Amino acid sequence: MSTILFNEIIFGPIKSRRLGTSLGVNLLPRNGKWCNFDCLYCECGFNKDGKDDRKLPKREDVSTSLERVLAHYSASGEKIDTITFSGNGEPTMHPDFAEIIEDTLNLRNRYVPDAKVSVLSNGSGISKKETSEALMKVDNAILKVDSAFDRTTILINRPAYAYSIRKLKRELEPLKGRFVLQTMFLRGEFEGEVIDNTTPEEIAAWQALAAELDPREIMIYTIDRETPAKNLSKVTIQEMEQIAAPLRERGYLVKISG
Ligand code: SF4
Repeated sequence: MSTILFNEIIFGPIKSRRLGTSLGVNLLPRNGKWCNFDCLYCECGFNKDGKDDRKLPKREDVSTSLERVLAHYSASGEKIDTITFSGNGEPTMHPDFAEIIEDTLNLRNRYVPDAKVSVLSNGSGISKKETSEALMKVDNAILKVDSAFDRTTILINRPAYAYSIRKLKRELEPLKGRFVLQTMFLRGEFEGEVIDNTTPEEIAAWQALAAELDPREIMIYTIDRETPAKNLSKVTIQEMEQIAAPLRERGYLVKISG
């Protein structure tokens, strides 16, 4: 597959389906992937294919690089909608994540006050107090929950630790009404296991979980590019509309990208 790695600390801006014009921040290694999930659909590829580089950017290098780029946007008047922490893995794994968020919010306020700060995360960091507090400070803490069942999550996201939805629910309590829930819907097969988070049982449980987690917004999407696991397929927009309908009826803002 064509693995996408971001070779700079600051990359883009890219036109994001969900976030608009998005300036990316990569807190992970420039030439390798580092994540405590290993999702079947990860655009950075499987962990085993990108482990050689483990060098993380220093806090001051992130700040300097970001300031340089934001000063350019401020001077030129070109608009960016969001500064987005994503890149080659899980941004909250950076040991200075909370401090880097603080620096970023200060730089945003100074140079591009209308831009949002977004973090795309698998949610693994919220058990750490500083990370959870940092996520509460950003405009969009976008947290991945692909299934209400541990077993399905383990099949799709392949966490490197003992994953538990029950624990996640507890940890997400303080972020109720503030975070953005992000869910990838897909179907297929991997290593002899059926992958499907769109069965009636899955959807009913996911809808109930979404309401219980009570996010500010919900983003649902499906595969858009080549995936490291073969034999995965997209879900249609119509299906995602049906998945979203009961939550929209309850008043949730649900955005769909196909
Ligand atoms: S959590 Fe994100 S970076 Fe990590 S494996 Fe999954 S898709 Fe890739």
